[in-house]
Amino acid sequence: MKIVDAKVVVTSPGRNFVTLQITTDDGVTGLGDATLNGRELAVVSYLRDHVAPLLIGRDPHRIEDAWQYLYRGAYWRRGPVTMAAIAAVDVALWDIKAKVAGLPLYQLLGGASRDRIRAYGHANGSSLAEIFDSVRALQERGYQAIRIQSGVPGLQSVYGVHTAPSADGSAPDVLAQPAVEDWDTAAYLRYIPRVFEAVRNEFGPDLPLLHDAHHRLSPIEAARLGKDLEPYDLFWLEDCTPAEDQEALRLVRQHTTTPLAIGEVFNTVFDYQTLIDDRLIDYVRSAVTHFGGVSPMKKLFDYAGQRGIKSAIHGPEDISPVGMAAALHLDLAVHNFGIQEYSGHTDLTNEVFRHAYTFQDGYLHPGEVPGIGVELDEELAAAHPYEPGYLPVNRLKDGSVHDW
Ligand SMILES: [Mg+2]
Repeated sequence: MKIVDAKVVVTSPGRNFVTLQITTDDGVTGLGDATLNGRELAVVSYLRDHVAPLLIGRDPHRIEDAWQYLYRGAYWRRGPVTMAAIAAVDVALWDIKAKVAGLPLYQLLGGASRDRIRAYGHANGSSLAEIFDSVRALQERGYQAIRIQSGVPGLQSVYGVHTAPSADGSAPDVLAQPAVEDWDTAAYLRYIPRVFEAVRNEFGPDLPLLHDAHHRLSPIEAARLGKDLEPYDLFWLEDCTPAEDQEALRLVRQHTTTPLAIGEVFNTVFDYQTLIDDRLIDYVRSAVTHFGGVSPMKKLFDYAGQRGIKSAIHGPEDISPVGMAAALHLDLAVHNFGIQEYSGHTDLTNEVFRHAYTFQDGYLHPGEVPGIGVELDEELAAAHPYEPGYLPVNRLKDGSVHDW
């Protein structure tokens, strides 16, 4: 078999997605997600101008060789643009291999270690009443684990709190110019424990609750938050400190038994080395889409599993159904699965990317279709072209830029 085509498709059915479609001389196609929210076209160019020409004529079955060729061979390693591009190639080649084998991808990763995949959803609100309503709405959809994000009194807009969903169902946090959010760490640290106290009182002790601090705290602030949240038995505290600083988690760890999760902006295993070796975290949060694909994610989970650390693949709305499907095959196969983030997509997105995976009673399953189980409707994708979009930026009350 030979690769005869490698095409990049950019579509915006409510938000932008970048998809690589590889075709073999036998007419088999494979899909990979290369979406890098807010910087999408950089990956498009990387793939179109620098990667696609190298793929033509290659044997699609040599996945590990293709990965090493693109990673080591480029000389310039790592970084989100490079690793999103390599991820798209890796997943598309796994899709092809599994289709040729006539098996769903998880069977090639060792087969199912579980029957279904527990997901968590996103609840939010600017008041306790809104948060309670949001939790109940998720429970009605079947969710059995819920992330809670809250507005903070005195702040206009806070990460993860959507005050007004847009009419077309697209995510309101992606705009043509970056929106500016405000932030006050002291106000946040005072208020959030009260939110979790109220949610625990309302929903009881059994519901797994998660919280994302979105890299906004210093190590000692994160340590305090972890301690203050201990009475409310969180499933995890996510991204409590800026992700570049692995040593920061050592200080947090010394002060709290609240489980820690991090890694959605990590690109390679080297970002985790201290965190895993020294058991400073409990969950690895990378996305298949931004970590170089299925191949390195499987290696990451095997490495983390040796320290009792579990998987928790990043899965917000800006991971396309292609990236989500690849994640679910890994989730089903790896033994040290923890939980899967899952928000779902708009109906239009699900039409552009028809997928075999299902969500029922709070659990996901990748389905039994050979490959990753996603087909791209190219005509519908073309009817919804790229639209410039940015994530927000975050400023403190004095006007200075803060971590977002
Ligand atoms: Mg997060």
